[in-house]
Amino acid sequence: MSPFDRPGVWLRCQLHAHTTNSDGDPTPQGLIDHYERAEYDVLAITDHWHITRHDSEEILLLPASELSARIEHGPHREADVLAYGIEELPEVRDHFPTIAEAASWIVAHGGVAILAHPYWSGLGPDDYLGADDLSGIEVFNGGCEIAQGNGLSAVHWDDILDRGGRALAIATDDAHHVGQDSRLGWTMVRAAERSVAAVLAALRDGAFYSSTGATIEDVRLVDGGVDVRSSPARSITLRSGAWDGGRVNAGRYAMHYRGRVLERDSAGAIVAARFELPEFRPWARVEVGGIDGSLAWGNPIDLSGAIPRSD
Ligand SMILES: [Zn+2]
Repeated sequence: MSPFDRPGVWLRCQLHAHTTNSDGDPTPQGLIDHYERAEYDVLAITDHWHITRHDSEEILLLPASELSARIEHGPHREADVLAYGIEELPEVRDHFPTIAEAASWIVAHGGVAILAHPYWSGLGPDDYLGADDLSGIEVFNGGCEIAQGNGLSAVHWDDILDRGGRALAIATDDAHHVGQDSRLGWTMVRAAERSVAAVLAALRDGAFYSSTGATIEDVRLVDGGVDVRSSPARSITLRSGAWDGGRVNAGRYAMHYRGRVLERDSAGAIVAARFELPEFRPWARVEVGGIDGSLAWGNPIDLSGAIPRSD
């Protein structure tokens, strides 16, 4: 589902943040005030094993929690699963036996399940591929990035996609100390309207992109290629599977591969590019590198209708 030609409104969403109801510093009201002042439209408070409820006129609150599951590897043998749109907590406490059981409980209770910070948790593609009810992963987690430099899970995402998995990707703060580990990553959701049900539907459908600053304005399948428009960029990438993909670059690395620049701004930054279709896999995702070093990630687009099958 492309967010770019879908009617509705763009909503800037913070989908991962903690309060004093789990291990965060701010009170629920303090967290809401922070994101409201930062001009977010939607906030999911994801306290661990707790649904923090609050009233707010200014910001739309998405009921949510961060649940955990046992895995067979890693120092704590634990993975975290973000649950959006659940109205109650599971009877099981502390850990689900598996990621798959956590995800299916969330979906069975009307929610959307996203695997949190795969890089930080030490997860591989099998951890994701074994849980059919997961909708996606966090491709960027700001708290992990500024604390330990392992907030970016783009390679984890590609490993899942290259093996035929379906995975969307959100960017978040995972804020515990707002002001220090906040306003780092967010998700731009194209919702039919500003409501909890519409945001959940858009998350389920993949009608969103993720960002640390850069903006994706359009991604469009054209005859024999993919066109991308973005905020002024030093690179725009069309990622696909192994051995595949293309990129255009501005400035010092002004080389283009399987793509060409369609338009630049007056400073020479790229604002539109056209890419050749991938050679080997029927999917691609867009990544924009902003001139300030920020990134934006589009969800995978299904190119199976545009690429002749080779297998
Ligand atoms: Zn968290």
